[in-house]
Amino acid sequence: MSGFFETAVEYLKGVGPQRASLLNKELNIFTYGDLIQHYPFRYEDRTRFYTIREIHEEMPYVQLKGKVTGRQLIGTGPKKRMVCYFEDSTGKIELVWFQGISWIADKIKTGVEYIAFGKPNKFGNHYSIAHPDMEVVSPATEKGGSLQPVYSVTERLRSRRIDSKMLSKLIQDVLVLARDKIRETLPDNILKDEQLLPKKQSVVAIHFPESHDALNKAQQRLKFEELFYIQLRLLKLKLIRKEKFKGIIFNNASLVTTFYQEHLPFELTGAQKKVIREIYADLKSGHQMNRLLQGDVGSGKTIVGFICMLLVVGNEAQCALMAPTEILAQQHYQNLSRYADTMRITTALLTGSTKKKERSEIHEGLRSGNLKILIGTHALLEEEVQFKRLGLAIIDEQHRFGVSQRSKLWQKNEDIYPHVLVMTATPIPRTLAMTLYGDLDVSVIDELPAGRKPIRTIHKFDAHRLEVNQFLRTQIESGRQVYMVYPLIEESEKVDLKHLMDGYESACRAFPDVAISILHGKMRPDAKDYEMARFVMGETKIMVATTVIEVGVDVPNASVMVIENAERFGLSQLHQLRGRVGRGADQSHCVLMTDYKLGKESKTRIETMVRTNNGFEIAETDLKLRGPGDLMGTQQSGALDLLIADLSRDGQILERARKHALQTIEKDPELQDPQNRVIKTQIASIRQSVVNWSRIS
Ligand code: ADP
Ligand code: MG
Repeated sequence: MSGFFETAVEYLKGVGPQRASLLNKELNIFTYGDLIQHYPFRYEDRTRFYTIREIHEEMPYVQLKGKVTGRQLIGTGPKKRMVCYFEDSTGKIELVWFQGISWIADKIKTGVEYIAFGKPNKFGNHYSIAHPDMEVVSPATEKGGSLQPVYSVTERLRSRRIDSKMLSKLIQDVLVLARDKIRETLPDNILKDEQLLPKKQSVVAIHFPESHDALNKAQQRLKFEELFYIQLRLLKLKLIRKEKFKGIIFNNASLVTTFYQEHLPFELTGAQKKVIREIYADLKSGHQMNRLLQGDVGSGKTIVGFICMLLVVGNEAQCALMAPTEILAQQHYQNLSRYADTMRITTALLTGSTKKKERSEIHEGLRSGNLKILIGTHALLEEEVQFKRLGLAIIDEQHRFGVSQRSKLWQKNEDIYPHVLVMTATPIPRTLAMTLYGDLDVSVIDELPAGRKPIRTIHKFDAHRLEVNQFLRTQIESGRQVYMVYPLIEESEKVDLKHLMDGYESACRAFPDVAISILHGKMRPDAKDYEMARFVMGETKIMVATTVIEVGVDVPNASVMVIENAERFGLSQLHQLRGRVGRGADQSHCVLMTDYKLGKESKTRIETMVRTNNGFEIAETDLKLRGPGDLMGTQQSGALDLLIADLSRDGQILERARKHALQTIEKDPELQDPQNRVIKTQIASIRQSVVNWSRIS
């Protein structure tokens, strides 16, 4: 297929092979279509003029009308510059050029009225603008311009004279050629319901908006379209799986009954029961389950996972649980085997460091069916890991597995896919969940076990350490235990370790009569286990540690969490750490220690932590601060590479796009209705461009 939009950019007038190759390499622009979809990342507002008196430092740019009253060449060598004195009826300012001086000298004339546009800088008590855009005032320009698009370009492009202006010109040219070729991509009913602009109008307006309102409408429309097609794909995937993929039916609940009657360690919360019911309904349905289980730290996902495994094991099938790291896998193994042992269900742990002999025993146990529950890292995905009958695969994501890894686990059964439950360690904002896991059903544990007192969180500056120590002392004296956590940043392991050791020493000095443990990643596993065990038994009262404890422990008597250099942690990590306390009946505390100097973002993070214990709220804030890509790690960022929509802001558009996608697919799953023909065409064209992409890269 090679339509107009697939035309190589090099054929556009003014581009040619050399510039085309630069555009390919620097901006991934290969075709006319790519060029049109290179949307501006911001706009300069040329609709409004300011007077010189109105200028203030925070203005990103300013547009002035005035006269050049004089000019002067100043300095020599690299400091040589041309200064023009520019004034209007309210004041004076300097316009400065360091480059292209002779050209400017030629072009700028004194006594002539100009429009000057640029970023104002303050020097002493007067302002200057370096390298302003200059235009002679004429009937065409004096009313002010439009919102001017600003395109992202790289340094390399700029050095070859392809700047934002040049791109804007190219896009203008290609849009003239494309005028009659831009198809509508959304059906009439949706355009009408959502009052969206037609596609053609939106594409023109996104590049060359005539007003703020026109721009806003164009953005709404294009964002909606982008999100609509993502949701349509996910929902279609979900529908197809529901229809085509059979699931093993698990009916016999006798093991579950025994566990409930004899071994259940506590009353389940209403939310846990609800979620178990949802999952059981899937496991009995005859269709393959694909479900996401979300719950805040400490909401009790482990036992829910185990109770689901019980139903499966009670029906002569096996379970696998895959975690993203070895420590997490170990943690799950310890927790789950506690429950499994009471029911005499065999479990094993398989990771990269499992010894060969043990490994082959595990393989054998899986094939014979004697081994019921296997917990591990991505080592589970290896070829030799063959189950007799895998009934349920639980994936503890912590945002780290990609969709392809998930599906590898399914393929462990030849005839019928196992049921899949994806668990996340911390809540995910709704917009991200809908995009990353939009093909899954969702269950949420939205309630903490009864009797928990909300953790009290306070922020203290390092200078108040004595006061904090005093507080810790009273806590320890009343029988509680304390965590003191230090940040760990891989690039500077040595420095981190030094901070930790310094912290350990000063804790020893401050609490000479208190037994203190230390734990970090560089210790040998047996030494780690030993220290951990001492703390769990209550032999030591303070645990000085790096973030290894983020995932590694559950000590109900430890009710105080001190986080050192709290400004260096991300929000969700702070929340994870805090979740280590608050597990017993006592009032728990979290103390965030920081330096006096805090950046704006650090401040927001700390304030958020102090304000709320709600993981969903924290995740939302984190998304706003960091953006979706960073939040989810690199593996999945591909799914989040959006052209125009922004998941941290466009939640409402996303909800509406999903609603319409769902309605469309429910009413007309094969897209046969004539009004949905545009959707069919668009899907084919998206597919085509994906194919083209994979050929290119
Ligand atoms: P997370 O959802 O963070 O994985 P866990 O499954 O580790 O949470 O549970 C946190 C703690 O709460 C554990 O000590 C667990 O035994 C306990 N717990 C879980 N559910 C309940 C409940 N219904 N009542 C009391 N304690 C519970
Ligand atoms: Mg857990």
